[in-house]
Amino acid sequence: MGHTKAAANYAASLKAAQEAQAQGYSQVLWLDAKERRFVEEVGTMNIFFHFKEALVTPPLSGSILPGVTRNSVIHLARKWGIETQERPITIDEVLEGMEKGELLEIFGTGTSAVTLP
Ligand SMILES: *Cc1c(COP(=O)(O)O)cnc(C)c1O
Repeated sequence: MGHTKAAANYAASLKAAQEAQAQGYSQVLWLDAKERRFVEEVGTMNIFFHFKEALVTPPLSGSILPGVTRNSVIHLARKWGIETQERPITIDEVLEGMEKGELLEIFGTGTSAVTLP
């Protein structure tokens, strides 16, 4: 029920968040449950990858919350002429983009977080 803002979604994510915090990390990067290679969200935020050639965010697949902030960022970016893609993105593509210097920044979006680098 990841597409719905429901308490059960938070309950299911608390253990992983606690484990990450115990290891000194501030957020959990969520991959898809089936193949564990497609990025879905970060913490309780939608996620965007700013590559040199485009702004990329995972498509709404049923397990990703259709955030109003996500929607606003997509609309504003397109209005400002920024190439914006809603497409599957693998963790390997993210790591490769970092290594090659093609990935400029990553940010999470949410009403409470606004946009968080
Ligand atoms: C609240 C939430 C978001 C962000 O949604 P907004 O409508 O932008 O606040 C993204 N992912 C999850 C899991 C959330 O609970």
